[in-house]
Amino acid sequence: MIDVAYEPTRGKVQADEGRAKAALVTTMNMPKAIANARLEDYDATDRVVALNEATNFVVAQTTDPTTFHQGLYLTGPFGVGKTYLIGAIANYLADQNQASTLLHFPTFAVEMKAAISDQKVVPTINRIKRAPILMLDDIGAESFSPWIRDEVLGIILQYRMQEELPTLFTSNKTMAELTEFLAGNDRGDDELPKAQRIMQRIQYLSREVTVGGINRRLS
Ligand code: ADP
Ligand code: MG
Repeated sequence: MIDVAYEPTRGKVQADEGRAKAALVTTMNMPKAIANARLEDYDATDRVVALNEATNFVVAQTTDPTTFHQGLYLTGPFGVGKTYLIGAIANYLADQNQASTLLHFPTFAVEMKAAISDQKVVPTINRIKRAPILMLDDIGAESFSPWIRDEVLGIILQYRMQEELPTLFTSNKTMAELTEFLAGNDRGDDELPKAQRIMQRIQYLSREVTVGGINRRLS
């Protein structure tokens, strides 16, 4: 009797594992570089608080995945590494077999507006709102639109709050600045109650953490 067994090579095993992990991070219009972002490599100079908060979140989320853990609202100036940090969080969670979805919110808003007239908007919003872990990148950098605020962001956040699904944000705006933006203050609107409705959901889902330090895009 001849017994033939095929053993995958180390390289094949690693490639398969890499693919499986990559499949646990869904990205929409995010920079490619975040695929390589790692918490271990995060240069924490001036950003110890943000790194600690990120570490606390992933530890809580992986040790007790069925309990709701409040996510992070990472705020700070352009280039300090907010997007990099959510990428590193997503990659860490993927290593622990937890799936997340990262989307660049301003691009998503443009795509949703362009799709208003076809039938894709509602299914897309439904898919995104159900992501096990959702990270909205650069919220508040989209152009202001009551429709995006109430019918897109509002729907997603309402569902996530109800279902207690982990949600993270990055923004160049503080929560206070985002409130003014969502009220339409810049363009002379004053829809503070509608803005506050969204902010209550963001504050339920996440805590505000300031990311400090230098602009890494210049260095
Ligand atoms: P932000 O989202 O805050 O505007 P990014 O996350 O896009 O900033 O980071 C800006 C640049 O700096 C990117 O090229 C990113 O890869 C790099 N970067 C950010 N944080 C780190 C870090 N801790 N270590 C190494 N490179 C980093
Ligand atoms: Mg960013």
